[in-house]
Amino acid sequence: MSGVLRLTPLRTAGRAPRVLTVDAEDWFHVCGDDFYSDPRRWGAFPSRIERTLRDLLDLLDRGGHRATFFFLGWIASRHPALVAETARRGHEVGVHGDLHRRADELTPEAFRDDLRRARAAVEDAAGASSTSHRAAEWSVRRATDAAVAILAGEGFRCDASMMPVPPLGPATNPVGPYRIEADGWSLVEVPPLTGRAFGRRLPVGGGWPFRIVSERTLERAERAFRDEGRPAVFTFHPWELDPEHPPMEGLAPLTRTVHFLGLRNLPERFERWLSRDRCVPLAEAVALLTAA
Ligand SMILES: [Zn+2]
Repeated sequence: MSGVLRLTPLRTAGRAPRVLTVDAEDWFHVCGDDFYSDPRRWGAFPSRIERTLRDLLDLLDRGGHRATFFFLGWIASRHPALVAETARRGHEVGVHGDLHRRADELTPEAFRDDLRRARAAVEDAAGASSTSHRAAEWSVRRATDAAVAILAGEGFRCDASMMPVPPLGPATNPVGPYRIEADGWSLVEVPPLTGRAFGRRLPVGGGWPFRIVSERTLERAERAFRDEGRPAVFTFHPWELDPEHPPMEGLAPLTRTVHFLGLRNLPERFERWLSRDRCVPLAEAVALLTAA
């Protein structure tokens, strides 16, 4: 199958934009933890996404920023007005799967079913079509994964799920965006911003690396990407901007450390970062990448 795939690197004609993406999920949507990843428990947790997401939308409005919000289908079917409001306020609404399952742990059929359920819930709520996708936990790992052909076959134009940094993804994955083509389908893959920190390449555009590397390192990485025509894709979760969310004592120690590392300082750091430039949604960056 891999023999028929064509990968073509993509660059914007001029300086590339800064892209803000938000994985629109609640504080208890944790992958790889037996307790929190079980959807049968989710209904019992106190949801905080209505407040944290609206606060984030207000903050983005004040700076004139627009973003891509990848909604879980599970969230969209329980908070449809929140999805509709996100779309109405000018943001792109994308799909983050239904039950926050890792793509590489599902059969192709189960991945397609989860994707269709999620998309139906998200599009019904938004009242518009969704053509951008992000898998839970960067779990589309390679261009040859069955999920890639399924996404293209289902009509998605863009995926932002592949990481070039181990252990989250193979180091052989491209660092910049590229088109994946085969047998009449194509999909644009836009990897997250990565840069050098602590002597290695790290995904500095989100998660604990964004929270703890120096702001000078962040700026350097962003500038390097954008000057080369690669959109700098940043990724946040509403719960990261809500330091008051439950302390989750039951998480495994490593998962808990990664979840909470540097979280206290994030809201201030995030606002300083927002103030330095304007953010656009992923679809706008893809339009620039495919304009040539
Ligand atoms: Zn997620």
